Amino acid sequence: MKYIDEFRNPVAAEKLAHKIKSSGTRMRIMEVCGTHTMAIARSALRPLLSPDVELISGPGCPVCVTSDTDIDRAIAISLMPDVVLATFGDMMRVPGSESSLSDAKAKGALVRVVYSPLEALKIAKEQPDKKVVFLGIGFETTAPAVAATVLKAKDENVSNFYVLSLHKLIPPALKALLSTEDLHLDGLILPGHVSAIIGSKPYEFIPREFGIPCVIAGFEPLDILSAISMISDMKKTNPAVEIGYARAVRPEGNPKALNVMYSVFEKVSALWRGISEIPQSGLDLKSEFAQFSASSFDVELPEPKEKKGCVCGDVIRGRVKPNECPLFGKSCTPESPVGPCMVSSEGTCASYYIYGD
Ligand code: SF4
Repeated sequence: MKYIDEFRNPVAAEKLAHKIKSSGTRMRIMEVCGTHTMAIARSALRPLLSPDVELISGPGCPVCVTSDTDIDRAIAISLMPDVVLATFGDMMRVPGSESSLSDAKAKGALVRVVYSPLEALKIAKEQPDKKVVFLGIGFETTAPAVAATVLKAKDENVSNFYVLSLHKLIPPALKALLSTEDLHLDGLILPGHVSAIIGSKPYEFIPREFGIPCVIAGFEPLDILSAISMISDMKKTNPAVEIGYARAVRPEGNPKALNVMYSVFEKVSALWRGISEIPQSGLDLKSEFAQFSASSFDVELPEPKEKKGCVCGDVIRGRVKPNECPLFGKSCTPESPVGPCMVSSEGTCASYYIYGD
């Protein structure tokens, strides 16, 4: 507890905020990761730094960037006979084109909320007469555990375990975003968890090609404030990628986790809500693991339908803030979400709704 308190000390936070504000530079900074978005809102860092620092949210919420087509595919698979679809709880209420996994469950689909891919594998072993499909959503943080589970399934000859891999990679999405949008950014706060796996090197193109300083940050208020202070210092020198979360992140990342991930998965194109199809930004099972892939299950998908008035795509790109959406807090609330950004526990709209701007 003492350890955590060190990173939440209000006096130290005030001091850092004062240092940032007295530097005299106005900054517009994107926090890429949804966990940072929630931490910033929960700790009321926006009002503490306003108007000198504007914090905008980026594409680092895995639930939010999953496309309607991929959600529709997961729902259609869950409705197949003899299928158990195992998913993290966040995905249950995310609306696809016509319905959600919760709706499918209400119609009789066997949808199970799990806390890890290993739990899905356990269900597969307990129910050999069912096809158990794990819905693989997440970034570089979650993919190694899913890969390890596939290796275990192969080792143990579990033939009724499948993965619908919708995993995505953060650096290609940042490249696509920064290449197509002029967001006038003075800095990026990079995700701590993803970087614990991939390290700092895959982001080096950002200062080199776009001249934007980056800091990998932890998730406590002082981690985030000190990342902003480091960005402010770098504005006066050379932009670079710095690690502000050295207790978890090394420049080379976690080679063991990366080895496991790339022994099972390969990079493929992926469709990102709000950004488009990005080459080499997703992970699918390699051909030698095709027997575990649910991507080729034959399902009929509904026509993709736009959610009228929802600007989730623009929120993910950092173009608009949630409270600029006409539906925010009216027809769209966490109890009755119109878009995924209001459902996810890392969603920008949910963070604004729960904690305010
Ligand atoms: S408030 Fe709701 S409708 Fe508006 S962008 Fe966010 S999720 Fe979509």
